[in-house]
Amino acid sequence: MVRRHQMLTVGVDGVAVERRLAAGGLSCPGCAGVLAGWGYARERGVRGWEGAVRVCPRRSRCRGCGVTHVLLPVVVLLRRADTAGVIGAALVAKVAGAGYRRIAVELGRPVETVRGWLRRFGARLEAVRRVFTVLVRSLGTDPVMPPPTGGRWGDAVGAITAAAWAATVRFVMVVPPWALAAVVSGGRLLAPGWPPDAGNSGQQRATRVAPDGGWSRAVIFGA
Ligand SMILES: [Zn+2]
Repeated sequence: MVRRHQMLTVGVDGVAVERRLAAGGLSCPGCAGVLAGWGYARERGVRGWEGAVRVCPRRSRCRGCGVTHVLLPVVVLLRRADTAGVIGAALVAKVAGAGYRRIAVELGRPVETVRGWLRRFGARLEAVRRVFTVLVRSLGTDPVMPPPTGGRWGDAVGAITAAAWAATVRFVMVVPPWALAAVVSGGRLLAPGWPPDAGNSGQQRATRVAPDGGWSRAVIFGA
């Protein structure tokens, strides 16, 4: 069985997104219909490495099935006030053996916040490993599979890193692991409802690949 994982990325700056929407260049992750602009999602603040960033994601609506989709910048995870890169750094530190208190101090984040990230991610390690291992296979013509690390945390984070490397090679552009994780999870890396309970079926939702916007300034679809 071959599962396809495609990622859709477009420029996150308003002009590029509008141009793409106007040209019918964004398609529905559900039915592949054309997406049209549909107002804006609520503005929110996200904490990055260098302080807060204001984000006001564009909302879109499918002309085919009528479902609305928020175009979420890849730096953002649903329900999280910190950027994917900051949260990813905490997960990497955990793999290296750090506990949540130490990670919180090193990242300058509240202890309970970091504990929440680790708890959430820690409850889906095997599912994450599976999703990104499948992705490595689908991205590479000669994929380098992540070696077992002897730990479930290391295997899960290692699979994300391996997928980012596979995407970097495939698209000949730097694909940051935590941006990729945000894209592949639809922003739900630490949110309920992801990974989908794919089990033996191929229910894993495909994400479209269109890396012309570049990864650092890309947007993704969240339901
Ligand atoms: Zn649709």
